[in-house]
Formats: sequence, structure tokens, C-alpha cells
Amino acid sequence: MKATTSQDLLRRLPKVDDALGFPSAATALALLPRDYVVSIVRTSIDTVRDRILSRSTEDAPACDFDPAAQVESEMDLQIARAMRPSLRSVINATGIIVHTNLGRSPLAEEAVAAVDAVARGYSTLEYDVHAHRRGSRHNHVEQLICVLTGAEAAMVVNNNAAAVLMVLSEFAKGGQAVVSRGELIEIGGSFRIPDIMALSGAEMVEVGTTNKTHLADYERAIGERTALLLKVHPSNYQLVGFSENVRAADLVALGHPRDIPVYEDQGSGTLFHLDIDGAREEPTVSDSLKQGCDLVSFSGDKLLGGPQAGIVVGSEGYIDRLKKNPLARAMRIDKLSLAALESTLRICLDRARAFSEIPTLRMLKATAAELEAPAKRLTDTIRTALDEHGLSKMATVCTLQEASKTGGGSLPLCDLPTWCAAVALETGDVDDLEAHLASRTEPPVIARISHDQVLFDVRTILDEKDFATIAHGIVVYLEELKAHE
Ligand SMILES: *Cc1c(COP(=O)(O)O)cnc(C)c1O
Repeated sequence: MKATTSQDLLRRLPKVDDALGFPSAATALALLPRDYVVSIVRTSIDTVRDRILSRSTEDAPACDFDPAAQVESEMDLQIARAMRPSLRSVINATGIIVHTNLGRSPLAEEAVAAVDAVARGYSTLEYDVHAHRRGSRHNHVEQLICVLTGAEAAMVVNNNAAAVLMVLSEFAKGGQAVVSRGELIEIGGSFRIPDIMALSGAEMVEVGTTNKTHLADYERAIGERTALLLKVHPSNYQLVGFSENVRAADLVALGHPRDIPVYEDQGSGTLFHLDIDGAREEPTVSDSLKQGCDLVSFSGDKLLGGPQAGIVVGSEGYIDRLKKNPLARAMRIDKLSLAALESTLRICLDRARAFSEIPTLRMLKATAAELEAPAKRLTDTIRTALDEHGLSKMATVCTLQEASKTGGGSLPLCDLPTWCAAVALETGDVDDLEAHLASRTEPPVIARISHDQVLFDVRTILDEKDFATIAHGIVVYLEELKAHE
């Protein structure tokens, strides 16, 4: 039975030429290249064909399934998608501050203005106006970074993964780099220390065990070909219990008499002691330098709260070698990121300003007491919207105390006490509501689910104007649900 039914449905699928006559295609043809619209039409037909082929016999009877209407609504969806920017802003209601999938750190206003100014015209990117000749893009931030970290010299590249690759390539290519087994981390997005090591041409020498590595383990591994001692800050996880690793200072004491440089990949790399309740104190970049590390690298968009960038600090001789490495050209930072970075670093010159103006730092320091009132306002906004649309019986909205995460491979195990608006549904499915808010609300709202409730964590909602968008998204979802009942 099913076979004939599917055959019948497949026969009723519109042809490409017919589908091009549908109203949404006509609108799209006026605005997009014809080939592009044709490919959208094809994809839409294919999607519906797949849907027909994967139908099971328990599905609604075939007479309810109109292939042409299905293609038309699929086309509407795909064309709407093609007409608006794919990369656009979202409302982050997850409570995860440095959310890699959502673009990590929002920039400070002043940094945004700096990007805007440089983006609109020509700039001093590689031009020294005082000397009246070619300059270097490193010069804009090197001194600032040195002042903020106590380093002798600094350079900046595209991101910290690039910095790690460049350091390994410059100092350990063809030789050996010694690293603890407890620090062979994966950051996510396919960044794994062993893979980067292989790519750099350095031979990795693993020492110790997963939970414990002693100084003697490093000592035994050192030989003729040892080129670098590598320490990786395991930013996205934490060994607890029976564990031990070697301090940078001890690696320095081991390496320096043998002329072996010590490099620490700090990952999140904070400039300030964060003093967050319940969080292990992260070493600052200057702490690692004070311990004697020759080189330290860290990200621009994690705990620094700036743009995507990789910052390497260390002694002048080593940084000079990095600046001359051919990879430096391939991995150089672009002017927009550089503008944002310089501005963020300038703000950091004043600690109090940094914690009030840099969104990542401000969100990290927001206390539960400060977040309770906004969470109640969000709850009220949602409740009022549901009331106004006669939907109050379909959902329960309350304010509850919860925990936010730092995210982005920083401060593992650190739960920041926070407040959320929570929505539980009388009918319907919270996963559906969460998906609806992400895919059908504009801007998309990214929430999280806990105990059969959709949670909106106010810690990471940057503007209270977004409360209305969230409430509206929930209203639209419930109205559609009601219409189908
Ligand atoms: C995040 C991280 C990286 C990668 O940094 P990106 O700036 O994302 O390229 C490298 N090492 C560690 C330890 C990290 O936490």
C-alpha cells in the first residue's frame, strides 16, 4: 500500500518550472540571481521528496499531504532565509557568558566605535605618521600589552590556536616539546594539543599520567633534542581529587639552566584576578610571566572580553623570532580586530572601568542580588504578554534561582549564582518551544532547558528591550499551538 501511495505523492511533486511560478519565487526572482532561486527551488523539492520517501504507514493518510503546498511552504522558508543575513545578532539567554557558538565576547561600546571608525576609511594600520613611513601593525598594541602584563614584548595574531601553532613551529619544529599527559587537552572545534603539535612539526613527548605529573617526569624526558617545555592551562576542565601538576616556576628552574624555553598556553588568559565566589582563582598572564615563563599566549575573546585574537607575550628575543616567522604573515590579525583589541586594552588600563565597560567582565561580576530584579521584570513581561493574548492557562511563568556558566573554556566547575525567568508548558513540549524561539523569533532567542522548563537567564541578556522579543516569541508559539488544537 505504502509504495503506491508514495509513488502517487511523488508524481504530484511540482516540476522546477512550475515551482518557479509560485508567488514567493516570483518575489525572489526580482531580488536574487535566477540560478540562485532555481537552486533554492530544487532544494525545496528535494526536501519534500525526502519527506515523502521517509513517510511511514502510520503517518496521516496521503490525501492530507499536498506535495505542492509542502514545496511552497518549504520554498517560503528557504527564500526568507536567503534574503536575510545568516550571520546576525541573537539574544543569548543561556547564561553562558563566553559562548563560543554565539560569538564569545560582546565588545565594549568604545571598542565597537573604534572598529566602526577604522572600517569606514583608511587607517594607520601599517603607517607610522610620526616617522612618515611604513610602520608595523604590532605597534598599536604591543606597549599596552606590555604595560598590562609586565611583559618585555608582545605580538598579536588571528587567534590563540594560531599563536600555539606559531610558537611550537618556531621553537620546537624538528625537535621535541615536552608536555604533561594531564594537559593534552581538546578545546572543541577540533583544536587538540597533539594535533597542533603534529602540524607544527614538533615531536610531542608526553610525560606523567592523566592525573599526576611530577617534576621528575619532565626531568627524565629531557634529552638532546628537547626544544621546549610546554605547559597548557586546562581551561575547560579541572582535575579534582588525587591530582598534581607542576608549577610553571618549577619548569622554569628545570629548563633555564639547560637553555630550554618554557611556554605556557594560558587559554582564557585573564589580566585581572577575578575574585569570583566559588571559582578557583585563575592565574593572570603576569603571574605566569613572574614565574619565569619565556612565552605565554592567550585568547583575545575569552576572559579579556575583546575580539578574536591570539596574544603572545614574553621576552624580546623570543617575540622577535616570532615576528619574523613566516606563519606570522599567514596568521596576522586584521585591522578591525586590531582596532577592537587596542580599545579593549586601553579600557583595561583602569581596572574599575574594565569591570564596568567590558561586557564579559561585567557579566562575570554580576551578583545574584543584582540579577533578581531584572529576572522578575522579565517574568512580568512574559506573564503580561500571555495575559493580553488569553494564553495564561497554557503556561506557568516564574522567577527562579539558578546557576550560570562562564563557558568558552574558562573557569570550569564555576557556577555563578543567577536568576532566570522559567516557562513551563501545560500542553506542548519545552524542546519545541526552545527550538521555535531559536528558529522563528527575530532576533533568534537562545535559551536553555532544565527540569521541563525553558529558562531565560538574565545574566547574559544584554538589553532589557530584548525582554519583549522573548515574550513575543513565546506568545507566537502558544498561539500556533492553540490554533492546532
Ligand atoms: C581556547 C583555547 C585555545 C584556543 O584559543 P582560540 O583563541 O579559540 O583560538 C588554545 N588553548 C587553550 C588552553 C584554550 O583554552
